[in-house]
Amino acid sequence: MKCDLCHAEIVEIKFRCSPEKFARAVKNGLTPNMQELNLSREQYKKDFGVEFDDRGIPWIMSAWKKMAMVSETDWALCEKCKARVETKL
Ligand SMILES: [Zn+2]
Repeated sequence: MKCDLCHAEIVEIKFRCSPEKFARAVKNGLTPNMQELNLSREQYKKDFGVEFDDRGIPWIMSAWKKMAMVSETDWALCEKCKARVETKL
């Protein structure tokens, strides 16, 4: 199982965040960090069929936000990300 935000391996999911709560955190400025964006490069290529480059970062950020705002499932979070989300609530 992986953290939905930073993709770190989680042995046991202890923290779940409701979509409403998560959307509120995103609205308040929660974003994935650069490392997490890099991890999305493969997904970007898979989803859009083009190679990701730095020009895509603002784009992928806004796509991520849109996706996060409309997500209807709980977010499984590692301890670090749970803390990050909570600072934005
Ligand atoms: Zn995490």
